[in-house]
Amino acid sequence: MTNRANANPHITVIVPAYNEAAAISSTVSNIAHHLQQLSPNWDVVVIDDGSRDKTAEVVRSLPIELNATLVRFSRNFGKEYAITAGLENAAGDIVICMDADGQHSSELLIEMLDKWREGYDMVYAVRQDREVESQFKRWGSKIFYGAMSLGGQINIPPDAGDFRLMDRQVVNALLSLPERNRFMKGIYAWVGYKSIGIPYTPLPRTHGESAYSKLKLIQLAWTGITSFSVMPLRLASAVGASLALLAFLYGIYVVIDRLFFAESVPGWPTVVASMMFFAGVQLLFIGILGEYLARIYDEVKGRPSYIVAEVTKPNNEKPVSRPRASSKKVPKTAEQDLFL
Ligand code: UDP
Ligand code: MG
Repeated sequence: MTNRANANPHITVIVPAYNEAAAISSTVSNIAHHLQQLSPNWDVVVIDDGSRDKTAEVVRSLPIELNATLVRFSRNFGKEYAITAGLENAAGDIVICMDADGQHSSELLIEMLDKWREGYDMVYAVRQDREVESQFKRWGSKIFYGAMSLGGQINIPPDAGDFRLMDRQVVNALLSLPERNRFMKGIYAWVGYKSIGIPYTPLPRTHGESAYSKLKLIQLAWTGITSFSVMPLRLASAVGASLALLAFLYGIYVVIDRLFFAESVPGWPTVVASMMFFAGVQLLFIGILGEYLARIYDEVKGRPSYIVAEVTKPNNEKPVSRPRASSKKVPKTAEQDLFL
């Protein structure tokens, strides 16, 4: 390992942005201002995740000194994919992921870099402000981290988000994972490496509001659980086995009752109630199986996780568009010549 204490690493900050036209300029300037003091080599990569406002235009017109590259998606793919694209387009020896809305304080960068110099490969910021959040988020995150620690093979540090520093080794490891269902919190924990958390309190959002509705948060949590834990499937087996045992015991009871006490019970409500109950349990667990099947289907299709429509480097006047797959010249066959 190189001596990190005196090293001047190239630092790349990646910034996923979705409808952040109002905030992105000041966020990038602020990041650049802090980076200048940390290292002579740095740049910023903003990933425009299919914004419907002028985010991309604002980033393209940022002053050249801010070293900001724009990677624009063809549509909104979600923050997890924006981060993946950022990692892929980052040149740094160190990559730091920060939100575009200014909630992640650049003041923390120096502390993160210090930890890297001490020998940590991943330094993640841990939120300290759960008390001021809504009941839904607080309880939701408790249940989520509880479920993950019950059934997962990995330990996800609670309250650590995407605001983190990663050494090049970690970035390469993250990029080597081919999965399309990308639940970043799980993936960070899965790759391992020497990691440490540092506390921080997110600043208030400068503009607009959070892109994460309750439904989106639940979806994200469900992706996390089904991508990193087989706990729901095990639960299905456990419930199935317990119910079968109960049904067996009940069967014995019915037989004994019939043989020795000869009292034929009408039993209609019991039959209906138990049928409905078992049908419900079966449907529920078929649904859970379906969830895993859907994830397998997603992976098997082998589609790219996202489509980049444009990459604009800070010194480029014009946006560089990647050639479309269909624009490749395909040699015409004699048959086509006849008809065209
Ligand atoms: N974001 C994104 N794609 C999305 C939603 C959000 O790239 O589909 C970005 C957003 O621009 C911001 C970061 O992810 O930089 C965090 O989003 P937000 O502030 O809405 O979430 P919160 O801070 O409430 O967790
Ligand atoms: Mg935010």
